[in-house]
Amino acid sequence: MPPFDLPEGDPFGPHNLPYGVFSPSGSADRSVGVRLGDHVLDAGAAAAALGSPYVSLLARPSLGPLLAAGRTAWSDVRRALTAWVTVPAHQEAIAGLFHPLSSVDLHLPFEVADYVDFYASENHARNVGQIFRPDAADSLTPNWKHLPIGYHGRSGTVVVSGTDVVRPSGQRKAPADAAPVFGPSVRLDIEAEVGFVVGVPSELGRPVGLGDFREHVFGLCLLNDWSARDIQAWEYVPLGPFLGKSFATSVSAWITPLDALEEARVAPPERTHELLPYLDDSASDVEPGGYDLRISVAINGHVVSEPPFSSMYWTAAQQLAHMTVNGASLRTGDLYGSGTVSGPSAAERGSLLELTWNGRDALELPDGKRTFLEDGDVVALSAWAPGPDGVRVGLGDVVGRVVSRDV
Ligand code: CA
Repeated sequence: MPPFDLPEGDPFGPHNLPYGVFSPSGSADRSVGVRLGDHVLDAGAAAAALGSPYVSLLARPSLGPLLAAGRTAWSDVRRALTAWVTVPAHQEAIAGLFHPLSSVDLHLPFEVADYVDFYASENHARNVGQIFRPDAADSLTPNWKHLPIGYHGRSGTVVVSGTDVVRPSGQRKAPADAAPVFGPSVRLDIEAEVGFVVGVPSELGRPVGLGDFREHVFGLCLLNDWSARDIQAWEYVPLGPFLGKSFATSVSAWITPLDALEEARVAPPERTHELLPYLDDSASDVEPGGYDLRISVAINGHVVSEPPFSSMYWTAAQQLAHMTVNGASLRTGDLYGSGTVSGPSAAERGSLLELTWNGRDALELPDGKRTFLEDGDVVALSAWAPGPDGVRVGLGDVVGRVVSRDV
């Protein structure tokens, strides 16, 4: 049955319509799909059935062509999809083109071009500073309030939700150890983040200004930046994260278009430092750059944290402006992570590093104590945002199970 009569308040109702790429179970044919309730609409087949001009963007095995098409096309396609799933005459024509989510495989919905990860939560940065630099006068580094700190990661190891994550091996050396040892990480962690997906490229040598964020960024998704803390701690000085992060980054199968999140836009926290003009979003004509996304982190079905994205100090627009201010260009499919989302309270921290204070305070889970992740642990990120008329906008989950290489 097509999902036209969803329960009132379904977070994946016609106000949401996130995009993904699916294939019917057992089939190799990939198609752009749009989620409605617990079903996915074959969007390309729907466009063809209705004689829509958007068939060229939707009857594809990837979101790439739609991402590259730009803001006007994004809005037009979304308006068309909304009509198809809400206007009875259209509904009739597409009723046979829905698949239950339980009958499809979901794939990485676009080819990830470049991948950048930021560090935009002041709470997270202060917690990490207190854990690793307890004697420092300020838990923030001197640059933190002046620029969104980030690094370039490994796009080829971005994986879709549901992909197992193999515990990485590498070098580690505790401060008291005489020499490093090699072996599987014993401090495997998560970072609950939001990923932003770039659609429209930019020209090499031309920075993208704060005001052009929505011309380039198509949408967002939940992201888990798996992190091996022991490998990271030994390798990161002086060039930053490397093998402790590059083994896997999980993203949701569903990309939520920015157009579905209009009601979730909020002002970021008050700035405590004057910003250079290219990052200054204090002017009244700059649209609010924050998003009110309520994230949950669960381990083996038990919620361990509820990080609020609205608490992030740096916005996605500022991150895009900073990432390109040197003239670096954007490509369709670029993905950038917000950085670990941690709120001000202990129950809002987005990593086990912070939740257990680097392993000092174990979490009590129904299946035992946890400091860092054990083999077999299943981590699930989920989130929702305020939508129109009090309805929630659901974000696609990010689920990953930790396995060892010989499993
Ligand atoms: Ca991160």
